[in-house]
Amino acid sequence: MTRKFFVGGNWKCNGTVEEVKKICCMLNTGEVPCPNHIDTIVAPPFVFIPLVKSLLRSDFQIAAQNCWVKGGAFTGEISAEMLVNIHIPWVILGHSERRTLCGESNEFVADKTEYALSQGLKVCLCVGESLKERENHETSNVVAKQTKAVADKIGCWANIVIAYEPIWAIGTGKVATPEQAQEVHYNLRKWLDQNVSPQVAQNTRIIYGGSVTAANCKEIGSQPDVDGFLVGGASLKEEFITILNARN
Ligand code: PEP
Repeated sequence: MTRKFFVGGNWKCNGTVEEVKKICCMLNTGEVPCPNHIDTIVAPPFVFIPLVKSLLRSDFQIAAQNCWVKGGAFTGEISAEMLVNIHIPWVILGHSERRTLCGESNEFVADKTEYALSQGLKVCLCVGESLKERENHETSNVVAKQTKAVADKIGCWANIVIAYEPIWAIGTGKVATPEQAQEVHYNLRKWLDQNVSPQVAQNTRIIYGGSVTAANCKEIGSQPDVDGFLVGGASLKEEFITILNARN
């Protein structure tokens, strides 16, 4: 089977109302592949989600950048139910900035993933190693451990996309080589094959994130186990349109 190309834009904690309007205008006028061939997702900060939803053309899907588990006494958090309530289909979970800056453990990310899926959200699950872990040749183990925490809790993988995002490549301009990305994606797919099922390994999209730009997207995107991208900085710029067309 061919896995549908997937490109997500993670706007992180950036933007003003004026800037958001400009980005939406840029996206609305951009030439992007037909939605039969690509899932295009943008993840604005929570406060701008309604605005983006009202402005953006319908072939762009919206994601939240995070969510909590069940709603309740969690000051400052957003629950999975709230996202469903305002018809947001996707959520990014386990981004390395949350794992490192907010101390989110593999288990907590897995709990949130399980809960978000149970509420009907689709999840873009981020995994990836630090520079030290790469230098110690621990990349595949780290990524497998992060994935296993989720595999231990969920039964269905149909609504998960895995984003392999090496921490050393995020926001640094130091992109993984196509070979490095392919190697990790291949090993992760093999892990899924051996530890979940051959079907899940075959069908689950594994996308790459970390300093993806218009200049490097074609080569990385042509690797057999790379099914798309999660894009940070470049998703706020015109070049995001070029990245959406990486397979054309
Ligand atoms: C990200 O934040 O998920 C990301 C990949 O950032 P950047 O593209 O800026 O490295």
